[in-house]
Amino acid sequence: MLKKVLIANRGEIALRILRACKELGIPTVAVHSVIDRDLKHVRLADESVCIGPNPSPKSYLNIPAIIAAMEVTGADSVHPGYGFLAENADFAEQVEKSGFTFIGPNADVIRLMGDKVSAIEAMREAGVPTVPGSNGPLNDDEARNLRLADEIGLPVIIKAAAGGGGRGMRVVHNKEDLIQSIAITKAEAAGAFGDDTVYMEKFLQTPRHVEIQVLSDKHGNAIHLGDRDCSLQRRHQKVLEEAPAPGIDPEARAIVQKACTDACKKIGYAGAGTFEFLYENGHFYFIEMNTRVQVEHPVTEMITGIDIVKEQLRIAAGLPLSVTQDDVVFRGHAFECRINAEDPERFLPCPGKVDVFHAPGGLGVRVDSHLYSGYTVPPTYDSLIAKIICWAETREEALKRTERALDETIVQGIKTNIPLQKNLVIDEEFKKGGINIHYLEKKLGM
Ligand code: ADP
Repeated sequence: MLKKVLIANRGEIALRILRACKELGIPTVAVHSVIDRDLKHVRLADESVCIGPNPSPKSYLNIPAIIAAMEVTGADSVHPGYGFLAENADFAEQVEKSGFTFIGPNADVIRLMGDKVSAIEAMREAGVPTVPGSNGPLNDDEARNLRLADEIGLPVIIKAAAGGGGRGMRVVHNKEDLIQSIAITKAEAAGAFGDDTVYMEKFLQTPRHVEIQVLSDKHGNAIHLGDRDCSLQRRHQKVLEEAPAPGIDPEARAIVQKACTDACKKIGYAGAGTFEFLYENGHFYFIEMNTRVQVEHPVTEMITGIDIVKEQLRIAAGLPLSVTQDDVVFRGHAFECRINAEDPERFLPCPGKVDVFHAPGGLGVRVDSHLYSGYTVPPTYDSLIAKIICWAETREEALKRTERALDETIVQGIKTNIPLQKNLVIDEEFKKGGINIHYLEKKLGM
């Protein structure tokens, strides 16, 4: 097993990783910025190191500082969580070159999947269904770009190859707007990601976002842990997720599950990963792969009983997966509400001191959160402060349980999006299951 894990992240996911390490008896090192000294996992870790000032580039994105912290503390491995350096191939490479273990797939695979153009290409070759599109980057040839849009059929979406976090995308409805939209997306991509490569895809009108969780080890074993529905989105950002995705065609599901595990073997994937798809009219269309643990991984854990972070640690240590595909038994239904420190109406971040935090409890309720009464949410980072995850035998019961858990939750001192979440779990359309990715924005009148 790994000897000592350095957790290169903060907030709820850092705590999540720490919990998995503790249960496996692996010592932990927390690294943090100046303002994050009082984070829950920093208090609970065996050791902690301040790696720099608050702005992420100076701390959580500061590769030399993190590698130095590994040297100083004698950590042999680093878990990047999600966000920050989790999908940074250069980081994974430098960690390995320094003689440490990166808990995630190798740098080449991260690079391949980090560029959406090469990811789509690799997946097409591996037999994973993709969205009809330009099959490669767009160049400056205007006639070619117009022809491509004609072939694909309007509306189309122009997307940055290096895009992420729902940024770097533009929908084109009219042919007259195409050339200018490509130019704007290119300029935005250059500014935001330092790479102006863009590509074109058919813009699906009413798809759902359905993703497949995979685990793959260094011994050629690859399994899937079923799917999640993350269609409730605002500005392409997920708000409330569930597993399994309701009402999916069983045949299409089985085919795509196999395509994902086959693709893992083909590209030499080792780690936990997620294949993201749009699902429309019974068909799956690959959009991207995330080569890391995801925010919404707990809903999968709840319906399979498999600890995804522990599997990540095992895989990184070179051990085989602890389960085979046949061992994976799906049971019940789970929802996850992302609780953000934000104004529920205007969606602006709302940092500050939490005077009182009372987490919900009871059968089937799990809370992944670094919050405690007296903790101050800094203005510097992501506004996610808690994830309320509820499981029950049926979707209906799980939804009722989520409603009950939200009612029990108390956060005083700052504003949160709990009112929005309460509103969503009683929404008649959502209750039916299978709403599409535009549903929430329509509901909010955006
Ligand atoms: P990111 O890496 O920024 O999350 P994705 O490629 O995963 O970008 O897309 C994020 C979201 O944008 C999807 O969940 C979906 O809501 C929307 N989207 C992306 N591609 C398309 C498409 N071809 N048609 C319709 N919606 C799309």
